[in-house]
Amino acid sequence: METFFTMSLASRDHEIIWHPYTQMQTAALPIGIVRGEGSLLYAEDGAVYLDAVSSWWVTIHGHSHPYIAEKVAQQIKELDHVLFAGFTHRPAVELAERLLSILPHNQKRIFYSDNGSTAVEVALKMAIQFWENRGTPKRRIIAFRDSYHGDTFGAMSVSSRSAFTQPFVQYLFEVEFLDVPVPGKEQLVLSQIQEILKKGDVAAFIFEPLLLGTAGMVMYEPAILDDLLEICQQSNIITIADEVMTGFGRTGKNFATEFLKNQPDILCLSKGLTGGVMALGVTSSTAAIYEAFLSDNPAKTFFHGHSFTANPIACATALASLDLFTDVICQENRLRISQQHAQFRSKLSNHPTIKECRQLGTVLAIEFNTGETSYFNNVRQKLYQFALDNNVILRPLGNIIYVMPPYCTTNEQLAQIYGVVTGMLTLIAEN
Ligand SMILES: *Cc1c(COP(=O)(O)O)cnc(C)c1O
Repeated sequence: METFFTMSLASRDHEIIWHPYTQMQTAALPIGIVRGEGSLLYAEDGAVYLDAVSSWWVTIHGHSHPYIAEKVAQQIKELDHVLFAGFTHRPAVELAERLLSILPHNQKRIFYSDNGSTAVEVALKMAIQFWENRGTPKRRIIAFRDSYHGDTFGAMSVSSRSAFTQPFVQYLFEVEFLDVPVPGKEQLVLSQIQEILKKGDVAAFIFEPLLLGTAGMVMYEPAILDDLLEICQQSNIITIADEVMTGFGRTGKNFATEFLKNQPDILCLSKGLTGGVMALGVTSSTAAIYEAFLSDNPAKTFFHGHSFTANPIACATALASLDLFTDVICQENRLRISQQHAQFRSKLSNHPTIKECRQLGTVLAIEFNTGETSYFNNVRQKLYQFALDNNVILRPLGNIIYVMPPYCTTNEQLAQIYGVVTGMLTLIAEN
């Protein structure tokens, strides 16, 4: 017993746990984290890490925020959970009210689930059944070729065909892929969508608005997305904005869709929704989508739900996070981080090892000139380790390094992150 408890978390973990996106045979021992505060994570061996990637893009107010902790504690004492079919509760109602007040104005209904992938599954099922319920079934879905919408089968189907999806490819439904309309490719993408429309039978278009995260923080302009949305609206195609990553201030606005003139029919949220504290997903819809499910015929019901749908603790967490998010301090912090990023970016321009430096709001991405852009690129492992050795968590996407910090990250901490990024440039130049 004694030896068991003196073993590190990392080695106990290594005996019995299977980690996500990890080749367990070659992976280094995981880093045991015992405490979090602000943008810092404290490891069991005494090391302190700066979380420059918001723990996979979720943490927005920093770790273990006392205000959120307090609200969670209150909620758990009041009501922990109740089934959500036939029952409701205050946190779910209040959260729906507050979300609808900040989401695009055409959004009228909130459907809860557990995470980003389920929010996407719900959106796809809503869109498909919408046409079914209307008596005009449509089959095709349009998505961006390099997109990422999650790891469940529906979400994988509308995501890029890559090394991640390769073993499952024969089980994924067919999707009509558009190139990502990065600057210079707009006309090509417009002609691609026209070709798809000629085939007819298109139910929905799902997209990551303005910023494709997993693709490598790839960015494109609002104008072309507005054009695509307009074409879809004219052709009776349901538009689905996957704001799982872009939501809650990442792009400089509350939601990326605020940069657009046209509003999507369905919107998916998760990640920052609870401040990155609890797992919760939201799929919002217009009144028109919702009304297609109202019927005397029970077969037109939306038959979807999860055990933990609208968990009260998760909803209370999201409410607490929204309190912080809508506060002027958080808005100032987002602006401050954007400005710091921009300053750092201007210092980097013309660096020989940089192919491109991109920024949207609080997200900064630097693409290195190392040729290959695969996730398995060995540069990736070197850069990741270099950052860790310097007490900063930065997880490169192939030869792209990005900074997406919690909004409470101070200027001194940002400087530390930028210092590590600069060190990476030297490292690559020497390779
Ligand atoms: C992370 C992500 C998802 C999946 O969310 P999970 O909670 O990890 O299932 C879906 N869409 C986008 C754009 C994401 O970044």
